[in-house]
Amino acid sequence: IRNLILILGDQLTPKISSLKNADPMQDVILMAELPEEASYVQHHKKKIAFLFSAMRHFADELRQSGWTVLYITLDSPDNQGDFTAQTQKAIQHFKPQNIIVTDAGEWRLSQMFKNWQNILKINIHIAPDTRFLCTEKEFENWAHGRKILRMEYFYRDMRRKTGLLMDDDKPVGGKWNFDTENRKPADNNLFMPQPKKFAPDATTQNILDLVSTRFDNNFGDIEPFTFAVTRDDARRAFDHFVQNALPNFGDYQDAMLEGEPFLYHSVIAQYLNCGLLDPLEICRKVEAAYHAGTVPINAAEGYIRQIIGWREYIRAIYWFKMPQYENENFFNHHRPLPNFYWTGETDMSCVKDAIAQTKRHAYAHHIQRLMVTGNFAMLAGVNPHELHLWYLSVYADAYEWVEMPNTIGMSQFADGGLLASKPYAASGAYINRMSNYCKNCAYNVKKRTGKDACPFNALYWDFMSRHADKLKTNPRIGQMLRTYEKFSEEEKQAIKISSENFLKKLS
Ligand code: FAD
Repeated sequence: IRNLILILGDQLTPKISSLKNADPMQDVILMAELPEEASYVQHHKKKIAFLFSAMRHFADELRQSGWTVLYITLDSPDNQGDFTAQTQKAIQHFKPQNIIVTDAGEWRLSQMFKNWQNILKINIHIAPDTRFLCTEKEFENWAHGRKILRMEYFYRDMRRKTGLLMDDDKPVGGKWNFDTENRKPADNNLFMPQPKKFAPDATTQNILDLVSTRFDNNFGDIEPFTFAVTRDDARRAFDHFVQNALPNFGDYQDAMLEGEPFLYHSVIAQYLNCGLLDPLEICRKVEAAYHAGTVPINAAEGYIRQIIGWREYIRAIYWFKMPQYENENFFNHHRPLPNFYWTGETDMSCVKDAIAQTKRHAYAHHIQRLMVTGNFAMLAGVNPHELHLWYLSVYADAYEWVEMPNTIGMSQFADGGLLASKPYAASGAYINRMSNYCKNCAYNVKKRTGKDACPFNALYWDFMSRHADKLKTNPRIGQMLRTYEKFSEEEKQAIKISSENFLKKLS
């Protein structure tokens, strides 16, 4: 054969660049469910099952379009365990002239492909991943000469580049950003649309059995499994979101409600990140819904900003700063990750709820990740790298390129402010304002210190005091530090003791 084309588990689209000049008559595709990829962290059972099932369905789609696909299942006797050995074996069998692969989304695999030329002694072509709007080079040029990098300016350039929600060179609605309208707390009486659910077919059922057996000890519940595993179903899930939840997405983007894991979020990052959905295609659908008058501007703009703004920006930062980014630790935090991140056994109702739904659905929405589990870890001084491994394991949408900058940069401020302009630190008052968690909590959110006080409160002020030197030059934090300075010495002491007592119990 001419080319052996390797398609990775997060490259599940016929538009992938490795297939661009390929020919079904002369080329063969290799796909494999590899133990090394399934176990470099303890992935949530649902995440493994989702990806393997989506891969098998994609391989069928390719075969139906005339491709020859060598598909190695996890339990196949031909499974070689990792990419290098599996590709080597396929080279021996097919004797191709070239290997073609679209570059990996993460540093580890991308470096490995770069070394293959030497190891496999065959011509390797690594095609750039064209599924993103902004290339590494474009981002370097954009960042060059800027003193500080801010997503908002990057986002405006992406609006101009795509023409999304633009009237010639002006933003539709007269403003670039409608975020000030997007901070409403949710209310129990609101109608909560649910994400579209899909019953497992025979292929998925086989995978569920396989994953339950092989990854029995991994985190998370495998059932109920309701994710889409094909492009058509992922599109149905997205259209369902546009119709039912998008109109309220903006208003309640930052809200949290006990027992309501999804609110008005789209729950599609797992589809986007593995190639089942295309970012521009979905943004065009959102734009069309706005022009049709079914979705208000704050929702349409807010949603499009998440995709062409945040998602692209986060990825660009990853490639801009790797490999050193993963070990950033601005606050020098070294506390081990508390065990309740795995068990959910804690009295803090917000943390308990976020972890319980993570276990059940392999999902938590952004504010739960940022302001509950992330915020708690930063206030408690948890090692950012350990936390990063947790986030990488527990969500169905977790890939290093998107998870790591969100954890290290946005949620832990471990990069010292490259990604976020201030630490996302908050006391219980914020959680109480944006959710109903505090109503049924064992702790009192109004109390700052003492045994029954909400732990977020003392930890928050103690965090401010511990890191005052590092924070005092940050204009967005100054006010909180001045508030702390005004506390009496007695109060400061009580905060320190409350915080220490709580942290002692954690370890
Ligand atoms: P919605 O709220 O409906 O938003 C729509 C889409 O916008 C998302 O699907 C996603 O593609 C994109 N988006 C929104 N915010 C971000 C962001 N900050 N970064 C990148 N894309 C964004 N997202 C992942 O895709 N994978 C991860 O592993 C991941 N880890 C995270 C870890 C932490 C600590 C934090 C704070 C955020 C993380 N995010 C991650 C970003 C965000 O929380 C998820 O994209 C979102 O919750 C997915 O749910 P959704 O599809 O319902 O998103």
